[in-house]
Amino acid sequence: MGLADKLARRRECPVCHGMLNTVLATSGLLCKHCNSYLQLVDDQLVLMPETTLAGIPFFGAAVPWKDVVSGRVTMAGGLVHPMVALTNLMTSTNDGVRVMAAQWPEGCCVCGAPAQRLQELTQAVSVPRSWGILVLGDRTVRLVASVPHCLEHEGGASLDYIPFHSQGHQMGFGIKFRWLGYRNAFCRLNPWPWSLY
Ligand SMILES: [Zn+2]
Ligand SMILES: [Zn+2]
Repeated sequence: MGLADKLARRRECPVCHGMLNTVLATSGLLCKHCNSYLQLVDDQLVLMPETTLAGIPFFGAAVPWKDVVSGRVTMAGGLVHPMVALTNLMTSTNDGVRVMAAQWPEGCCVCGAPAQRLQELTQAVSVPRSWGILVLGDRTVRLVASVPHCLEHEGGASLDYIPFHSQGHQMGFGIKFRWLGYRNAFCRLNPWPWSLY
């Protein structure tokens, strides 16, 4: 690692050897090159242990909706990022609804115990609308994901912005989990690519 890299706090990913920028954080760093969560230990980037459990949903995985990117992401109905409404779908308006067709890892997304219920996440976002080559402006859609939980836990996941720490500090939109091991398993089962901006 050269002096310029050291001064800029650039560190090499131990998994893929891509470069990450460690100015803003020393743990929970997401490598956009290989999708690994890393942390600094003794000035070296290492993989975060899969047992890591964050206090709130933090570890992000890509979602299948490629148009929820860029400055297009705005919360409808006056919701302020990163608020996520855990609402009943029946109360939603007649917005377009997209249900996430994901394969869920076995067990509760917080602790891995047998899952006994699904918690429904919803988030309103605006996406570009077009008809053929005509651009018709944005429209609001409601994203829905039903996430396995045990009876003891709730709020183990959210639909939200995900920061990357590779050079350029890009953002993506995805589903966040509290438990890194569950997030990694989710990514293996649903290897959707990130849309970054
Ligand atoms: Zn990497
Ligand atoms: Zn649980």
